[in-house]
Amino acid sequence: MELKELKGVGPQTLKKLQNAGIFTAEDLISRYPRDYMSYDPALSPGELEEEKVVTVYGYFLNPPVTRRFNGQQITTGVFTDGMGRITVNWYHMPYIAASITGNEMYLRGRVMKKGRQWVLYQPAILKEEQYLELLNRLMPVYPLKTGLTNKLMTSLVSQCLEQAELVREYLPESFRRKYQLAEANYAVRNIHFPESRHDMLLARKRLVFDEFFFFMLSVRELKEQKQKSRNCFRFGKQEAGRKLLESLPYSLTGAQRRTLEEIYRDMGSDHLMNRLVQGDVGSGKTIVAFLAMIYAAENGYQSALMAPTEVLAVQHYESLCRLLEQSGLDFQIVLLTGSMTAKQKREACKTISAHEADMIIGTHALIQEKVVYDDLALVITDEQHRFGVRQRAVFAGKAAEEKKPHVLVMSATPIPRTLALILYGDLDISVIDELPANRIPIKNCVVDTAYLPKAYAFIEKEVRKGRQAYVICSMVEESEQIQAENVTDYTEKLREALSPDIRIGLLHGKMKAKEKKAVMMQFAGHELDVLVSTTVVEVGVNVPNATVMMIENAERFGLSQLHQLRGRVGRGAYQSYCIFMDRSGRKEKSERLSVLEKSNDGFFIASEDLRLRGPGDFYGVRQNGQLQFALADIYTDAAVMKQAREAADEIYEKQAEMTQEEEKQLQKLLSAYQEKAAAADVPL
Ligand code: ADP
Ligand code: MG
Repeated sequence: MELKELKGVGPQTLKKLQNAGIFTAEDLISRYPRDYMSYDPALSPGELEEEKVVTVYGYFLNPPVTRRFNGQQITTGVFTDGMGRITVNWYHMPYIAASITGNEMYLRGRVMKKGRQWVLYQPAILKEEQYLELLNRLMPVYPLKTGLTNKLMTSLVSQCLEQAELVREYLPESFRRKYQLAEANYAVRNIHFPESRHDMLLARKRLVFDEFFFFMLSVRELKEQKQKSRNCFRFGKQEAGRKLLESLPYSLTGAQRRTLEEIYRDMGSDHLMNRLVQGDVGSGKTIVAFLAMIYAAENGYQSALMAPTEVLAVQHYESLCRLLEQSGLDFQIVLLTGSMTAKQKREACKTISAHEADMIIGTHALIQEKVVYDDLALVITDEQHRFGVRQRAVFAGKAAEEKKPHVLVMSATPIPRTLALILYGDLDISVIDELPANRIPIKNCVVDTAYLPKAYAFIEKEVRKGRQAYVICSMVEESEQIQAENVTDYTEKLREALSPDIRIGLLHGKMKAKEKKAVMMQFAGHELDVLVSTTVVEVGVNVPNATVMMIENAERFGLSQLHQLRGRVGRGAYQSYCIFMDRSGRKEKSERLSVLEKSNDGFFIASEDLRLRGPGDFYGVRQNGQLQFALADIYTDAAVMKQAREAADEIYEKQAEMTQEEEKQLQKLLSAYQEKAAAADVPL
């Protein structure tokens, strides 16, 4: 079935769907709801307590009247149940008055408090039977892209599902019984339009299982391929690393040293290294990666380090240059990123293929550009969770066919070891579980907007001491609920709030790579005092002179992401501070955010986050920057993950009884999954 055959899809809508990455019916039904709405029982006007979307039952005292006000056409009436009263406003809908009688009715819309009064905005009028039908039903709330409404998505998905069965079951009955999994078609239907919460949960469990299952099968495949790989590099010399260590102003922590030894040992063994280095933000993973690269270089091999953002790649490049210079080591480094000009790229590629470069640092360009490496013995991905497993494999595949490189990946995502072992089943793991000794713990506070002037004064004070500050605020999302401050506007406001001599820069994802780099360089070089930014600075950025991190709308972020952001400060010898600005308007302090006040430990925060969300809470604030499954959550769905692993092992070892039909279907779905993985749509 084609999308354009659906009712409501004209050329324009088709384009919008395509822009959102939806090309087929299949794509459409795999856009799962991000949440569900249910119509709670109607309230009477006197019962309102919270600003939210509600259904109210009552009648209009008098017919609503339409007025012009500030260029707006407002239709207003007083709605009551004989006791409480609220005002109802419609904008630019004068015709609505005609459909209102003096009878009792249901209205559904958002209520807000204006002074002492409750006002209901732009409500829909529901008939009794409409209301009864919707009561207690779960309705999908879809993640929306530009121009697509929830109503449209709901209608399209429902049309698709009315057509013939879209998925064919691939899991043997025995499996489904063993793991208590719903049938595939049932799952797809019920994830979109569940009759009850129970149905939704069953559907969800099955789909989560599928996601993990395909992931695990693919990880198994990769692991199998790798175990066969022999190490054909020879490592002996270890002078340069020692020299570099001597020139450092600090000595490595025990955990860094242990990790480094594990890496050296791997690189010298018969088999290729496949190692994950896990360490909290600021634990010093970068220097370990650099030392591994230097080890390769002094033994005559190339190595390449891939970072998820341009800003980070440039930063790594510059700090490695500096380190080499300081220690008098004579190796060549080259930078390769997407924003470089064609000519610059060509030159970089030439240096690489001629082996004039010993070490290469870059972004995705390292795998996208036509780079031919020479004797590439080591590939490293920084902030691994930002890349798919498949991209990691493509990266490693950049080496000559008969000479596969060692693979090192680094991640700050605090995944409990048991989960890490499953998710990164194809990797050995080193944990850097110790922070450098000179660190002064960051001081944290969660505050509300009343504190804003103080926060600004504090930033100013730190700047006067010669320090720098970050202010994080997210881009406006289209979603109406979220009133995030626009970065640009915010920067203007901040300019007014701070003294004019304070140099403020701004950074957001829409800027060109070159502009981003320039701003980041200015901040790193202390030509800026304050950097207002979206979460693009989240990963890896290192400016030790920055001591204040203020996060606007902290309530909107996941705890682990907040922890990552906070990790941008506290990197030097100065006392650092993190201010979490809670703009939710809630009176009591958020329990979730206070976790951040209590602790600076990423693992603790991840486990508290899990505890607070509870194993059933899938639709809270999604963590950003983790392995992103469509539905599955590696923390809350850990139990299903284990089942999927078990099932994948059974299938992989061909111990499962499957019909030919099922096997064919599984193969088909698995290759579709891996294709998507190659395009980085799914976590693999
Ligand atoms: P992350 O693990 O988050 O990537 P980085 O590698 O960026 O952390 O290191 C953070 C900061 O700590 C850097 O400024 C780095 O120079 C410094 N650092 C790394 N190791 C040590 C150490 N053993 N002692 C003191 N400072 C260190
Ligand atoms: Mg890092």
